[in-house]
Amino acid sequence: MKNVASVAETRIYALQGENEAKKHSLHGVNEHFEPNFDAVSADSEQSETSSAVVFQQPGRDNFYFMHYEGTIIRPPSEANSIILQVTVGCSHNKCIFCGTYKGVLFRIKNDDVVNADIDFASVHCTRLNRVFLADGDALIIPHRRLVNLFSRIKKKLPWVNRISLYGNAKSILLKSEKELRELKEMGLHRVYMGLESGSDRVLRDIQKGADSARMIEAGQRIRNAGLFLSVTVLLGIGGKENSREHAIETGRVVTEMSPNQIAALTLMLLPNTSLYHLEKSKKFIIQTQGEMLEELRLLVKNINTPKAQFQSNHASNYLPLNCRLSRDKKMVLAAIDEAIAGERKLTPEFLRAL
Ligand code: SF4
Repeated sequence: MKNVASVAETRIYALQGENEAKKHSLHGVNEHFEPNFDAVSADSEQSETSSAVVFQQPGRDNFYFMHYEGTIIRPPSEANSIILQVTVGCSHNKCIFCGTYKGVLFRIKNDDVVNADIDFASVHCTRLNRVFLADGDALIIPHRRLVNLFSRIKKKLPWVNRISLYGNAKSILLKSEKELRELKEMGLHRVYMGLESGSDRVLRDIQKGADSARMIEAGQRIRNAGLFLSVTVLLGIGGKENSREHAIETGRVVTEMSPNQIAALTLMLLPNTSLYHLEKSKKFIIQTQGEMLEELRLLVKNINTPKAQFQSNHASNYLPLNCRLSRDKKMVLAAIDEAIAGERKLTPEFLRAL
């Protein structure tokens, strides 16, 4: 099991010295952009057993713990953040392409456990000035409890200057703009939101739990509260049948949300998901590499944001891009055309990963 393996690895790192242990423990957390994509599902043993990450200072008997449970994922841009797991799983947990938290019962972790991890970080993570709150949608935590958590972080980790978390449409809309502003004043900087698609048909089919109107409302609420909004879209999630509608509607919705950052991933089917089985029974037809590039082109063409960073440099993508939209649109469309014409090197299938 992956989490047990990472504990063992961390023990080995501990032998290399305290600083190395600290560094590796934080990088031992899986790297993903959105909590959608991890082939490891928690079995009953995993979900019931806390897999604390253990540190031992060389030559000393005392042990230190960071209480991680199950599969921990975080966006790539949080690679140098203190990962504080405040919830386990995802409160929605119904998206048909997502295998990350299959079999995991969502819960908010006990304050005592979270406080112990903050205490740990206050001693051992003094050089990391960002905090990422895991798991799937930490924003679902009731507001007062979040305020207490942020106060504790502020008090114990005064050098931290940025707190980020995942939020879905439901968890965002459960917070008022005033509450979001309050969290911003206490250190919340960035919300990562999984849009996946702007097509109502696709959103319904994949059981995302919100239609495009709610997605737009949620995204705009984050922006109106003055927070940084990072939105993930998923190429290929409409399948061959809905590819065109998916690209055009996603462009429209993203434009209306006006996020600071748009991250595109490309669908990879995971065996523990319903979508995988739909594909096996030919009820969902996944696109070819060329068709995915055509979809990417149509998506980019339909994004008309004044100023957003667009990235498709996640390992699941065939063509890595990093640009500003709409400023660089012409250049990016030309690059995609070159890729479609076979004039650009693409990520080979065997190197794609989630
Ligand atoms: S909201 Fe959907 S995609 Fe995101 S973690 Fe939950 S089930 Fe997975």
